[in-house]
Amino acid sequence: MEVTRKTRRLGVFGGTFNPIHSGHIYMALSFAGQLGLDRVLVVPTMIPPHKQALGLIGHGERYAMCQIACAPYPQLVPCDLELRRGGSSYTVDTLRALHRYYPGWELCLLVGSDMFFTLEKWVRSEEIFALATLCAAARSPGELQALARKKKELEALGARCEIAGFPELTVSSTQLREMLAEGEAPGNLLPPGVGEYIAEKGLYRRKFSLEQKDYLPELEKLLTPYRLNHSLCVAKAAEKLALGLGISEKKAYLAGLLHDICKDMPKEQQLQWARKSGIIWDRKLTCQPQLWHGFAAAAFLREKLGIDDADLQNAVCYHTTARAGMSPLEKAVYLGDYISEDRTYPDVDEVRRLAKQSVDEAIFYTLRYTLGRLAEKGEPVCTLTWEAYNELWSKLFPC
Ligand code: ATP
Repeated sequence: MEVTRKTRRLGVFGGTFNPIHSGHIYMALSFAGQLGLDRVLVVPTMIPPHKQALGLIGHGERYAMCQIACAPYPQLVPCDLELRRGGSSYTVDTLRALHRYYPGWELCLLVGSDMFFTLEKWVRSEEIFALATLCAAARSPGELQALARKKKELEALGARCEIAGFPELTVSSTQLREMLAEGEAPGNLLPPGVGEYIAEKGLYRRKFSLEQKDYLPELEKLLTPYRLNHSLCVAKAAEKLALGLGISEKKAYLAGLLHDICKDMPKEQQLQWARKSGIIWDRKLTCQPQLWHGFAAAAFLREKLGIDDADLQNAVCYHTTARAGMSPLEKAVYLGDYISEDRTYPDVDEVRRLAKQSVDEAIFYTLRYTLGRLAEKGEPVCTLTWEAYNELWSKLFPC
């Protein structure tokens, strides 16, 4: 007698998970029950293309929280596919890859209503419709009719859709980030263990800003999501280094957060700001537009943001070139930019190792690396960088 094996079904549940919350787990488990899913992959995005990444923390920590939240449920499996792929996380690429890794499985893309309502605008949506069944859950009461209308609309475009048959749970990551920033207890809105992880790592605390100002809205206007994520990673790295350097962690965090504030501006605008920074300009600087954004940021902080803290201005000013006589804060931002968790260049692990041992040695290593690369390419070397290198050489290798 021929035994027919039922097609296995794989739930694919993507999100920023910033942080993962009980609504996510409830939705994944409820869909697993309703649709008979054999496994649900919980897939944190690297850079979300479908939403603004407000207050996005590092991907390593978001993934770790997914692992903690899924641990009690064997059918929920955290998946770092998009984190390893890097860049903007397009769902269509993920579904294609999963079809290769899970041949013969039926893919079910699990989304909340906010995502379901925008699905036809996602990159290569028609391919997404062909690759997976779309499974939508309501996020607030009274959404079922709107979901049913959208289902019809998407089906007319060739999609296969399922609407959740379980009640909605209105929690969101935004709500949790706000609660955590205010120091409120999240109670059971966070899955067991996730709250402890957040507390231990000090995540989502309201960060210090000079005069308690929140610079994130300004950064969100000026930076691409990619650059904003990088700035948050550098802020964290500088904050960590500050501890060993004996300086204010809060100030180091802020300097790291703001260091690239001018980097996504058009070059002419960067040049205009850079010329206001007060640094001595020479022909080599004119030929190296990649250096302008740091100098520009110093003037921008002073004139646009009203930050008159000279050490903080210098930390953003020299974060690319370095200079002789760097203050501990300048070192924290310069090195933080090299070892932040989003960095993947070949020597990054060596620099991270050195940074734990000696900040000066790690900086010397990066300066050698930078000078070597510039010389290889036949490019000029900024005088500030030479001076930083020579100063550290004298310090580290006394005659
Ligand atoms: P934020 O508040 O930062 O926008 P979020 O709570 O929407 O975050 P995401 O990680 O962006 O969380 O969501 C991942 C997926 O989970 C999305 O498809 C989203 O619609 C869905 N989702 C999030 N919360 C719920 C919920 N309470 N019920 C059902 N689906 C949810």
